[in-house]
Amino acid sequence: MGKEQTGRNQSQRKQVKGVLHEEIGVDRGSGNAGGNCECGVCEREIEESSAFTCHFPADKGFRDCQTEQEELKEDQKETSQFTVPAPIMPMIRYLVALSICAAAYSVCPAFEVTVLPSNPRGGEAVLVSIKGEPDDRYLVTFKGKEYTPFFQKTGAREIYLPLAIDDSGTEKIKIKRLAAETEEAKHVDIAIKERIKKVVQLQVSDEAMRDKEPMVEHQNQSVLETLRYRSDDRLWKKRFRMPLDSPISTSFATHRKGKTYNYYHKGLDFSAPAGTPVKAMNAGKVILSEKDLNVYGNMLVIDHGQGIISCYFHLSKLLKQAGETVQRGEIIGKVGSTGWATGPHLHMGVYVQGQAIDPVWWTNFTADLDEQATITASQSSSSGYRLTSK
Ligand SMILES: [Zn+2]
Repeated sequence: MGKEQTGRNQSQRKQVKGVLHEEIGVDRGSGNAGGNCECGVCEREIEESSAFTCHFPADKGFRDCQTEQEELKEDQKETSQFTVPAPIMPMIRYLVALSICAAAYSVCPAFEVTVLPSNPRGGEAVLVSIKGEPDDRYLVTFKGKEYTPFFQKTGAREIYLPLAIDDSGTEKIKIKRLAAETEEAKHVDIAIKERIKKVVQLQVSDEAMRDKEPMVEHQNQSVLETLRYRSDDRLWKKRFRMPLDSPISTSFATHRKGKTYNYYHKGLDFSAPAGTPVKAMNAGKVILSEKDLNVYGNMLVIDHGQGIISCYFHLSKLLKQAGETVQRGEIIGKVGSTGWATGPHLHMGVYVQGQAIDPVWWTNFTADLDEQATITASQSSSSGYRLTSK
């Protein structure tokens, strides 16, 4: 390699070093070959043919400039076969930064999680929404149970997780992305507010009725199994509505206490005259339509999909059979007093992944989601709807 080329390499090397010094924030002088160092401290004379980098000021300690020259000469021997022209360096740094970003992206969870609402109470539910790659699979773990979130038309995955009536304090939701090469997880803590429960003393006549017709266990198990049903497709549209407009006589989670009975009321009781039409809370498919069960009387269960179920008990008439699809607000039966009932009323319940939740909260929450979706859709029709924390 000729002298001329070596000299150019030295000059280029100084430029490269200068850039790197700036990056790491070390303030150093530099020298022009054939002059003095410009650091203002060492004033070292620099020979025309020598490479020189000054290490003043002394934040790193004084180093003998001769040693530095020798180190650089050694360095040159190693790198003189291939020296990167200075103008290419910004491009190389860009590519290095890009590959670091790509590596970080592959290590960090490449999905977004939204949990709503931010302040749930016991007996409500939380909606976990996951946005990631279309083909990714996820597993959500909550209170020791594993759930596979459901695919949505928006491309997101969603799962409603039920909170027990007595839940309070902090609970952790784990969202794991199941990819072929790696498994990545995110954790979301939710703070659950304690639900204040109303306590009601069961009347003697109520207890006598229950004693006279004890619960038939296999019927009860069959109904409970239906309430735990989960189907993949989302059948409901928009918010859920109440099945009738009559006043609520017993609210959700009322603690009923008697001599031998002690339990939470896991739905709503509507006081209504016999024969009042009962409407489907939302679109879905009837999965149980049974007559004369000793506890529930004539009853009907609707699957709304993705673990959301509504049920209607003590009816005088069943107007839909199992397997039939129903629309939101369609009349499905008439109020009665069959089964464990001391008078005409409708008992209805909403179940999320097999667990009873507060139907009043559910209708309000799904209405809020509807409103949010409408606002977001009108703001940006191209981005679909995206849930944001209220
Ligand atoms: Zn009831």
